[in-house]
Amino acid sequence: MGGSGTTRRKVWAGALLLLGIFVGTALFAVPTANAIAPETFARGPESKNPQELLVLADNLKTSEHDQFVRLLDELGHDTSHMTDQQLAYLRYLVAWQVAYSGDYEHAEPLLKALMNQSGNNDLRFRATATLINILGISGHYEEAFSILNQALDDAPQISDKTARFQVFTEAAQLLTEAGQYNLAVNYGHQIIADFPQGRNACAGYYVMLHAQFESDGLKAAAQEFQRGIDVCLQASEGLIADSIRRDVAHYDIQNHHADAAAALLQGSYANVLGYQYPDLTTEYNALLAQAYWDKGDPARAEQYAQYALKSAVKGEFNEPLSLTYKVLYQIAAQKGDLRNALAYHEQYMATDKRQLDETEAKVLAYQLVKQQMDAKKAELAELNKQNEILQLQQALDHKAVVTGRLYIALLLTVLASIGFWLFRLKRSQLRFMRLARRDGLTDIFNRQHFVDEAEQSLRYVAKSSRNASLVLIDLDHFKAVNDTYGHEVGDQVLRRAVAICQHYLHSSDVFGRLGGEEFGILLPECDQERARECAETLRAAIHAEPAGESNDIAISASFGIASTVHHGYELRQLLLAADEALYRAKRDGRNRVVVNASRTSDDVSSPTEPSLYGIRNTTHCADPTH
Ligand code: GH3
Ligand code: MG
Ligand code: MG
Repeated sequence: MGGSGTTRRKVWAGALLLLGIFVGTALFAVPTANAIAPETFARGPESKNPQELLVLADNLKTSEHDQFVRLLDELGHDTSHMTDQQLAYLRYLVAWQVAYSGDYEHAEPLLKALMNQSGNNDLRFRATATLINILGISGHYEEAFSILNQALDDAPQISDKTARFQVFTEAAQLLTEAGQYNLAVNYGHQIIADFPQGRNACAGYYVMLHAQFESDGLKAAAQEFQRGIDVCLQASEGLIADSIRRDVAHYDIQNHHADAAAALLQGSYANVLGYQYPDLTTEYNALLAQAYWDKGDPARAEQYAQYALKSAVKGEFNEPLSLTYKVLYQIAAQKGDLRNALAYHEQYMATDKRQLDETEAKVLAYQLVKQQMDAKKAELAELNKQNEILQLQQALDHKAVVTGRLYIALLLTVLASIGFWLFRLKRSQLRFMRLARRDGLTDIFNRQHFVDEAEQSLRYVAKSSRNASLVLIDLDHFKAVNDTYGHEVGDQVLRRAVAICQHYLHSSDVFGRLGGEEFGILLPECDQERARECAETLRAAIHAEPAGESNDIAISASFGIASTVHHGYELRQLLLAADEALYRAKRDGRNRVVVNASRTSDDVSSPTEPSLYGIRNTTHCADPTH
């Protein structure tokens, strides 16, 4: 890949969820779940006071998850004897449980409510750390970084080391993902300074060493790696110790020590399978596949690559997966099995690209938030200076000393330069904001921003129960364009198709590139029939205008439509329905529009049917009565 001026780094980032769960545990200095005698619980919750039960539940969260859920249930039955503090504690545990179950949408408001509560600082901090974790996992990087920055600003006022630990762990992980390795290493060191031994120290070593691995600084840290593994093993944190070993093995592979890497990975392999943590299992499988391939043992390489495909979490696009496809591609190519080689290569490219896009989104979100923070600080500085000048002027009213005036002149100069600085910050902030939301090739919305805007638009029309329709577009046989004319011409064709669509779209329509040669349009206040007419216009226009520099490449596109009247106002649902229609358009011969009206009969308009719109019709896709 390449070609773009910016350097993009891949990040081996399976750890976010892992440590997020880890961080939520082991709070408050009480015996661990294993040390609690079974009879404590057998006697039943009635015999214990709420505080003890809350702490017990807190400590059972991950180790005895079923008991934790039962305890929460019982505690929730009668809250009349609880203090406000205890109620808040219970609310936090409930929010944690909702997040742990993967229901981030509902966990978010619960955690935010806790964060805004005054009173218990430590609970607020714990809620903040959990929230940052789920925002990171669900791809809301801008918000994750902005809350993280606020939390880091507050950290010096938090006396509880354990609460601080949570935020530092999140910080180190998110910053590593955004390429800010030095900052991440610093937070790792702060954790180790607060906790030289035990589980928290183990997490500290993990985030610190992982950041060093990602920044290629592992060579200098050989001893620290052994130390990190030892600390984790002493704290019975085998999973984290084996995650550190994964980085060491990965480093060995990168430095052509495949033998050492395979031996290290095999040594922990049985343990890793035992944790039943799919991300780590996949990482081990993928690295073993690569190590055996490097050792010249394609049979075992293929075996581990197949294991990796099996253990990978569905729908995730990460580096282990892209590594796996690369190994499979190389094996197939070596065997002369060109069909499979091509298929694996395509998977490899697709996974690699999705992963790079993710990384880029994180880096941009970090830069954007940093710009916003700097701008806020500059604004504050300016206000302070203005205040100072006012006070000085008042004092001078009495004395009217010439030197005082000179001082004012000096301050005014300072003020002017701060103003200029502020102006430049704002300007680059706007630039970053645009970069983070636009697709680099076509300059229309990228996938993430399209989703945000379309959801907002749908909420708006849903309020007044008006219609909206979603159109999915996929260029036909686009791969053949690339193969015949080259990638650059392919890019031109993509830009051309976007320009044609833009010509017909209205400013309130949400238009974005969903990936490769696939686009989405949300047409607010547009029913199914109008959406079909609009799509038909776009289809005819794309088909009628050959692309390429010499205008000799015939292109066409297929369209899938879903409307709120049949599929509701959930974007996810609309995307699924439109995708189904698009699939049918492809199957029925391409260059056509298919509407998914699953509740009534399906409806297809073929290119041979007369269109309501002339090909060069410049009517916009908006309602003409508008
Ligand atoms: P179909 O009609 O079934 O949609 O066939 P297709 O060839 O269009 O579909 P397929 O998904 O097999 O191929 C999509 C191609 O788009 C593969 C990939 O190389 C190419 N592609 C993806 N992103 C870009 C890009 O940014 N620029 C260029 N030039 N090509 C891209
Ligand atoms: Mg296509
Ligand atoms: Mg496609």
